[in-house]
Amino acid sequence: RAKDEGRNSFQLYEPAMNARSLEHLAMETALHRALPRNELQLHYQPLVRIGGGGLEAVEALLRWNHPDLGLVSPADFIPLAEETGLIVPIGEWVLRCACEHHRNWREAGRPPLRMMVNISARQFRDEGFVAMVGSVLAETGMPPECLTLELTESMLMEGSERAIARLDQLRALGVGLAIDDFGTGYSSLAYLKRFPIDELKIDRLFVRGIDRNPRDAALVSAIVSLGHSLGLRVVAEGVETQAHLMVLHAQGCDLAQGFHFSRPLPWDEFVAVCCSGS
Ligand code: C2E
Ligand code: MG
Ligand code: MG
Ligand code: MG
Repeated sequence: RAKDEGRNSFQLYEPAMNARSLEHLAMETALHRALPRNELQLHYQPLVRIGGGGLEAVEALLRWNHPDLGLVSPADFIPLAEETGLIVPIGEWVLRCACEHHRNWREAGRPPLRMMVNISARQFRDEGFVAMVGSVLAETGMPPECLTLELTESMLMEGSERAIARLDQLRALGVGLAIDDFGTGYSSLAYLKRFPIDELKIDRLFVRGIDRNPRDAALVSAIVSLGHSLGLRVVAEGVETQAHLMVLHAQGCDLAQGFHFSRPLPWDEFVAVCCSGS
């Protein structure tokens, strides 16, 4: 009888569900250990000025080197990190690590470079978030204008008034603010006007077809105009080909990021690649 056999017999009754929750639990346990065991690392992808060439910024992208599974994509563990709240310490580690690499860049006397760091909804809502950003800036000697935080439309739209207040606090620290994956969420244009942001990153979903599909091209062109009319810089994500780049150039888009320039790379490789070509 299940009852007599104790808790472990639960799996006899719901094998499918239990296999899934065991897997979930194993991932959660492993994720708890990822930080203390140094299994997290950042890869870096350049953002390049369109037309003028040249490196303007770099985005830090999180990777988890799982002991059994190898490199796990952020799409596969950030939702779990959000759900468990682990994203708060992990996000702090990401910010500190990115700022330390940037110090390494400055100390080598390299040209100005903005560091872009992704922030999750749970982090942004966390009471200590603004203070945490402030202390990491201070501890790493990071010039605030060199840091841009990437937020998403949905996290700004939920509780918009509170979100605007928090954006103002971040602005007061002197950091830049970008909306990531623009076009995939539900921004109200009325709020967009009120968000104190600097930059829009057009989601790669729209960029993919711009050289072949007039509708994609029209959408990207409209986002570029919208961004510029609000005084924002516009970045195209997912630029994979010269043809993409040519259309974006004609449309007046400011910055491009994508495999056409570089895949995300470990810091040392990023520095080697980006500083050899220029
Ligand atoms: P994102 O911030 O929109 O990052 C861009 C994603 O597109 C990255 O995926 C990047 O590797 C990929 N990508 C760049 N260029 C191209 C291209 O030309 N073609 C294609 N097909 N893909 C391209 P990645 O690294 O797997 O990250 C996925 C998402 O995970 C990120 O999307 C971001 O939302 C989230 N993420 C990554 N790092 C962090 C982090 O440190 N904290 C948080 N909260 N989220 C992160
Ligand atoms: Mg991003
Ligand atoms: Mg994006
Ligand atoms: Mg994204």
